[in-house]
Amino acid sequence: MDLEPVIGLEIHAQLLTKSKIFCGCAAKFGAPPNTHGCPVCLGLPGALPVLNRRVVEMAMLAGFALDCTINKQSIFARKNYFYPDLPKGYQISQYDMPLCENGRVAIDVAGESKEVRITRVHLEEDAGKLVHDQDEDSLFDVNRCGTPLIEIVTEPDIRSPAEAYACLMAIKRILDYLQVCDCTMEEGSLRCDANVSVRPRGREKLGTKTEVKNMNSFRGVEKALSYELERQRDVIDAGGVIEQQTYLWNPDTNRTVPMRTKEEAHDYRYFPDPDLVPLVVDEQWRERVRSILPELPAHRYQRFIEEYGLTTEHGAILSETRVVAEYFEACIQAGTQPKPAATWVMGEVLRATKEKHVAPSSLHVTPTRLAALLKLVEKGTISAQVAKKVFDAVEESDREPEEIVKERGLAQISDTGALRQTVEKVLNDNPEAVKRYLGGEKKLLGFFVGRTMKATKGNGNPKEINKIVGELLG
Ligand code: ADP
Ligand code: ZN
Ligand code: MG
Repeated sequence: MDLEPVIGLEIHAQLLTKSKIFCGCAAKFGAPPNTHGCPVCLGLPGALPVLNRRVVEMAMLAGFALDCTINKQSIFARKNYFYPDLPKGYQISQYDMPLCENGRVAIDVAGESKEVRITRVHLEEDAGKLVHDQDEDSLFDVNRCGTPLIEIVTEPDIRSPAEAYACLMAIKRILDYLQVCDCTMEEGSLRCDANVSVRPRGREKLGTKTEVKNMNSFRGVEKALSYELERQRDVIDAGGVIEQQTYLWNPDTNRTVPMRTKEEAHDYRYFPDPDLVPLVVDEQWRERVRSILPELPAHRYQRFIEEYGLTTEHGAILSETRVVAEYFEACIQAGTQPKPAATWVMGEVLRATKEKHVAPSSLHVTPTRLAALLKLVEKGTISAQVAKKVFDAVEESDREPEEIVKERGLAQISDTGALRQTVEKVLNDNPEAVKRYLGGEKKLLGFFVGRTMKATKGNGNPKEINKIVGELLG
């Protein structure tokens, strides 16, 4: 049977606020266990939540960027369930009246563009963290309790694992540009659950879906969906039916394993949280947040191609994260031409950021220094080859490229007089080759240039040497 995949994503993003969503505790990741807790996030009796304004603003930014309607009024609800990571016995979330609704995101797969509708973007608090140690014990860490999340839910508009990957990446790029989330799936600051079903192609009615959780990388989502689709097709081809169920992706075995069936699923008994008044966003507040929206990744990508003549591939790499895009544009502002700026950022700069695990803005090779370095190449003071070495030296020493070139004597010998002497010596030392050259073996030119380069320890200006050899043997 020709079965069409149908996929919808639920994406949780940890917001980069200083404090938690309903209390003043720090929302920092990686602090020692149980150092950020208070009566509110521990859910002690009588403690009252107070909504963090920054959280609402970050969620609104995401809402605007995803082309959503921002609701004037939204409601916080209690989602009740018992689990040791939830001291209150309920999670505060938004249910039937979310902050943002009815948006869309554009995706591109294999040159085809389409839109995926966004159902909603709502606010919620995260649960605490359980650490399962080697013994039978589980340890509880309150630090993550009450850290702010947005949940982004898509409509079931996605038709392949590749589209799901593209959709997740498009949303990730947007959140990165908004600087509301650091978007690392590996550390869990971005999490994605994927809902998936199949239906006979051409049929409108949706099939029964399963939900896949626990993917800890962007490609993992694509892989998990491919696996789950294959499994569903096999079940249907064998005459079976799909049961609504949650699966956990195991990245080590590349398989999904069932977690729980719908029958055992929780009844969350949602109801409005009586401790929190409705969230009201008036027009003034909404417009103020809209006015601080930065340039978004899709726009920047397009602009890079049009303004700087980049290929689509290079445009994509250089606009992938906001920090890289900004570094690249700062290079141009510092006087580097777009082409070499693109080459060097995609090459040496990205390599250095990966090696040091830092943002480009933290490199010692600043855009100004890179521009100075490339000026030296342009002027012929150093070759591109030597420039790479100087790049590393600048990065290591935190000093100016010119200083390093001078100090290490890396400047190319462009002094024609000195070079001419060296070339003459090379020709005298190789009379046999000279004879053959004069006899018509013109490709020996490269041999003479190579010998001269060697004699100058690589510091001769190859263009200049070429010219001199040509002149002397002409
Ligand atoms: P639930 O009631 O299980 O939470 P929702 O209707 O709220 O389901 O949808 C949750 C997510 O699942 C959304 O991203 C939605 O697009 C997706 N979804 C819903 N139905 C299907 C289906 N039949 N196949 C694939 N995805 C679906
Ligand atoms: Zn707290
Ligand atoms: Mg739902």
